[in-house]
Amino acid sequence: MKTYTITPNIERIQADIEKLATFVDPEKPGWTRRPFTPWYFQGREWLKNQMLAIGMEVEVDSASNLIGRIQGTNPQLPPIIIGSHTDTVTGGGRFDGIIGVIGGLEIARMLKELGITLRHSLEIVDFTAEEPSEFGISTIGSRGMVDNLSEEMLIRRDPSGLALREGILMAGGKPDEINSYARRRGDVALYLEMHIEQGPVLEQTKNKLGVVTGIVGIHRYRVIVDGKPNHAGTTPMNMRFDAFTGAAQIALELESLCQKEYREPIVGTVGKLNVEPNASNVIPGKVIFDLEVRSLDTAILEQIIKEFKKKSTNIADYRGLTVHFDCLSKSEPILVAPEIQNVLEAACKETGSTILMPSGAGHDANQLAKITPIGMIFVPSKDGRSHCPEEWTSYNDVALGIEAIARALLSFDQLNELVV
Ligand SMILES: [Zn+2]
Repeated sequence: MKTYTITPNIERIQADIEKLATFVDPEKPGWTRRPFTPWYFQGREWLKNQMLAIGMEVEVDSASNLIGRIQGTNPQLPPIIIGSHTDTVTGGGRFDGIIGVIGGLEIARMLKELGITLRHSLEIVDFTAEEPSEFGISTIGSRGMVDNLSEEMLIRRDPSGLALREGILMAGGKPDEINSYARRRGDVALYLEMHIEQGPVLEQTKNKLGVVTGIVGIHRYRVIVDGKPNHAGTTPMNMRFDAFTGAAQIALELESLCQKEYREPIVGTVGKLNVEPNASNVIPGKVIFDLEVRSLDTAILEQIIKEFKKKSTNIADYRGLTVHFDCLSKSEPILVAPEIQNVLEAACKETGSTILMPSGAGHDANQLAKITPIGMIFVPSKDGRSHCPEEWTSYNDVALGIEAIARALLSFDQLNELVV
């Protein structure tokens, strides 16, 4: 295989990211570009013109994803997709999702400048509405691309009364044709995504690139602790059935279980808590809290929840409380195939210091994994921050990520058996 000098143009990448950052809601904090708003459509129009300017074929698919395409030399091969998203959370930053799309655009430009035509067609995709939306779902566009967007989801309305199907129509999609034009297994050779880490690990370990080993599964439970509400002044400490102190001890038990060493890292969080009656002079009679645990290993998640339930029941018994658990949801982890990881790791190591790591957050890759092998790489997030105006990745690090994805793309393009 011929070797190329792959050097992303940092000034050009910076200019692109800064340009996209001008299409934001002036009324909202940070950099806010919610889907189906004028700012979102302006950003997309700009992006479409950048794709057209380098001779890409541009289309909006039935789920309203913006796709720029370069034909490969072998029409028998399904395309390789590089994608991410340009919508943000409210009060978000300039890098989450955006660098994956701009990175794809930069790779398309580099291929053109180097005179490289791939065997596979290359599609650069800006997936519609990846972030959690007012419709109660995330990854809308990538769901649609793989036929995982149900009619029930399409008729949901946001608080302004807009139905999701109307939003998709506004964005140039054809909601009635999502099913018939969805991609199936075999239609896509490989999906690649570069994303900011959204955590502190790369920065803390002084690495520039992270090869994602998988995207964690999430198990969520609601825990209901029942005690006895009573007067906070007249009830002695040894005659109380305080649901809150019981719940607090139970939550600490989750923390200590997740702090142990397992063969895959696990994180556990109690992020939502309701105290009843929630009055300063009443001993809490009931606490309802939601917890989640995340890991690449489903067996470990199951084991931890089993131990957690046992320990929680012991705590409740000892305190004269009752505890009850409802499973809210379970999502399966997505594992990146070792062969894909190997190619990405080699490409990343040629580019900069690299580690392997799981993704603790979901991405468009979760959806694409339903029909095709996926590969992802992370670049560092300053202070581990994301979904806030302080979100920052140096342009130099963004360029390294693009270089690594480009190297990996050239390697993958040589393989015939990408579809697994
Ligand atoms: Zn994102």
